[in-house]
Amino acid sequence: MRSIILGRSGLTVSAVGLGGIQFSKIPQARVARVIAEALERGITFFETAYGYFDSEQKLGLALRGRRQGLILASKSSARDGRTFTRHLEQGLRRLRTDVIDIYQLHGVDSPEALQRALRPGGAVAAARRAIRRGKVRSLGLTTHSLEMALRAVRTGLFETVQYPISLINTEVPRSGLLGEARNRRVGLIAMKPLGGGRLGQARLALSYIYRFRGVVPVVGVETPRQVRQLAGIAERPTKLAPAHFERIRRIRRTVGRTFCRACRYCEPCPVGISIFRVLYFPVYVMQMGPGHVLRDGLPDWLVKAEQCVQCRQCEARCPFHLKIVEGMKSSLRLARRLSRGRGSRRSAAVRP
Ligand code: SF4
Ligand code: SF4
Repeated sequence: MRSIILGRSGLTVSAVGLGGIQFSKIPQARVARVIAEALERGITFFETAYGYFDSEQKLGLALRGRRQGLILASKSSARDGRTFTRHLEQGLRRLRTDVIDIYQLHGVDSPEALQRALRPGGAVAAARRAIRRGKVRSLGLTTHSLEMALRAVRTGLFETVQYPISLINTEVPRSGLLGEARNRRVGLIAMKPLGGGRLGQARLALSYIYRFRGVVPVVGVETPRQVRQLAGIAERPTKLAPAHFERIRRIRRTVGRTFCRACRYCEPCPVGISIFRVLYFPVYVMQMGPGHVLRDGLPDWLVKAEQCVQCRQCEARCPFHLKIVEGMKSSLRLARRLSRGRGSRRSAAVRP
């Protein structure tokens, strides 16, 4: 398997990483088979999160006794140091390890969220303490906001930054993110490299990302067969020819019009709807399964979408011209269909 060095962290990872979000919806025995296949194929990078239900636990169990030579990444959405440390400690226990190679601030999508994490007693101070104590090797950050990805790279505080990079994210090559990360030796991890499961053509999608030197895609998988396919592409990506770029342009014209990048340029909504989460609802269901996403009933942030007054301010702001109102209606229809017969309406703590 080819390998990639993640910036100044110095961590060497396989050219593709496995994302653990889907592990929450498949049984432990299948997770074990997926991991065994990954190890067999030379995949050494595994990424999960405190917030992905029992994903850390299942990954830890599947990797029992096989820790050496692997790079483990997890993350916490806490901004205060106390909760962050609790999540980290639990992650160490669940992953059955003494050290997590990359621990990330999860979903830092606004300057305020970063500010909260940077306060005295905040998550960044807790992470630094954990690094001094040998519980974490590198600090990373994940975000859906291009501005925040750039800001994180420039702070010099983070060894890795994880941001959606795929052939749909046309803003990436134009933004300077790739060059800045390279110059400042920040490792870039590509989140949703297959467009959250909407691109279908894994070979084309991953080969597109491999044109960007030093970027490591992390892909959510559910079967050993998918692992074999990913490993084969990572080992020998396709050199893209003009015909491939024509296909990419076609995909951008079709999927690109319905694919929410979670960039939040459409906010604020006057009634306080978290638009990207509502649009992402079908992806959450696909990745984690309805049992987890709706385990406490319809999430409050989804129910809130019923209050949309169709002012379409959001649609005017969306740089990708998404039909947001229609997309939210479709999420609500799916949620109602899935939740039929379910009980309460408490919020589910799901973060993309
Ligand atoms: S609807 Fe448009 S602006 Fe809003 S988060 Fe999605 S892609 Fe970004
Ligand atoms: S159309 Fe609906 S979601 Fe969009 S800004 Fe208006 S109220 Fe909010």
